Amino acid sequence: MSEATERAEGLGTLCVQSGWQPKNGGPRQVPIIESTTFKYATSAEMGALFDLEANGYFYSRLQNPTCDYVADKLRALEGGSAAMLTGSGQAASFYSVFNIASAGDHVVSASTIYGGTYNLFAVTMKRMGIDFTFVEPDCTDAELEAAFRPNTKAVFGETVANPALRVLDIERFAEAAHTHGVPLIIDNTFATPVNCRPFEWGADIVTHSTTKYLDGHGSCVGGAIIDHGVFDWMAHADKFPGLTTPDESYHGVTYAERFGLGGAYITKATAQLMRDFGSVQSPQAAFVLNLGIESLHVRMRRHCENAQALAEFLAQDDRVAWVKYCGLPGDEDYELARKYLPNGSCGVVSFGVKGGREAAERFMGRLKVCAIETHVADARSCCLHPASTTHRQMNEDELVAAGISGDLVRFSCGLEDAADLIADVDQALA
Ligand SMILES: *Cc1c(COP(=O)(O)O)cnc(C)c1O
Repeated sequence: MSEATERAEGLGTLCVQSGWQPKNGGPRQVPIIESTTFKYATSAEMGALFDLEANGYFYSRLQNPTCDYVADKLRALEGGSAAMLTGSGQAASFYSVFNIASAGDHVVSASTIYGGTYNLFAVTMKRMGIDFTFVEPDCTDAELEAAFRPNTKAVFGETVANPALRVLDIERFAEAAHTHGVPLIIDNTFATPVNCRPFEWGADIVTHSTTKYLDGHGSCVGGAIIDHGVFDWMAHADKFPGLTTPDESYHGVTYAERFGLGGAYITKATAQLMRDFGSVQSPQAAFVLNLGIESLHVRMRRHCENAQALAEFLAQDDRVAWVKYCGLPGDEDYELARKYLPNGSCGVVSFGVKGGREAAERFMGRLKVCAIETHVADARSCCLHPASTTHRQMNEDELVAAGISGDLVRFSCGLEDAADLIADVDQALA
């Protein structure tokens, strides 16, 4: 861990300066270590790396220096103990759960999550023998309590849900998770650490699709996992044998003993899951991601200002059936947003066009500044009709549970001028 990242600096300074720390005369920008492998003088030295006895690099499927520098920036921004990059947000979500749950286990998840994550959990991981119970973010305490089983291994949710834009009561979900001796995993993609740091509210593990605001320019698909390093695996040793008993595929290392609270979870995910599944981020992609993060704190403010302006315009327009943006007074999540997201939530606004599904699609086809894309959180504004695209695998009941109606337009405000975005929406509604 670098010196600069451990100083108590503002988030803007961490966005710009944490991670890579050049030595005297070294390159100012993070070097792209475009090498699959690393050279050693003796087999014994490399053997120590394979046994996790020493720190170092031997093969870029497991670890690469460029990726580690950028992961360290995200670790500093979230305030965690360890972090890793993954090849996509999907890989991050999968690893974050599969690192501590396997066949026969169970996970509690908020129902308002990204469509791809829902599919991963409800279909693919279910096929691997892991059961999920989905609860509404505003379920009662009794409903939340009833979701837990003796074999529950984690609780999962999104700070600001994509695309339902529900805000999770992180403290409440963390308390429930901890009462049952399991960690809370938070997908912090939409808020980013600039707007919310889930560890400060009791979350134990944070995931990101770095494809979104962290990259911010629609350039590289990627993901990240950050561990707070506080959850005590050994105190619940029977629940997490993968961390608290010897790993025979790693010469009997017990991760929680060897790497402690701060290192066990990410070391296991790297040494075991990345080794076996190989969803790595490339050094080139990590370099581009780092460039994006350098301006994250500046961009997030503008994304949020544009979204607030658009949401306020839509809220007073009678061609619009409804608007969902937690920055609007009167929004069901306004109070939660004031608590968890006092500086803004994200640049995405969801709304319904009067006339339902067809009117929504007609409206989108008329937009000129904003483009129809399977994307959000780009510098360029883009929009999507989830019911017919990202969430089309869901039936009507599942769509309702995920907070998605047929007329829902997910509008991701870019970094353009708010007046131009509003004028574009105005003419498309006409
Ligand atoms: C996009 C997204 C994902 C998946 O990330 P990819 O990088 O597309 O694999 C996960 N969670 C959320 C909240 C997302 O928006």
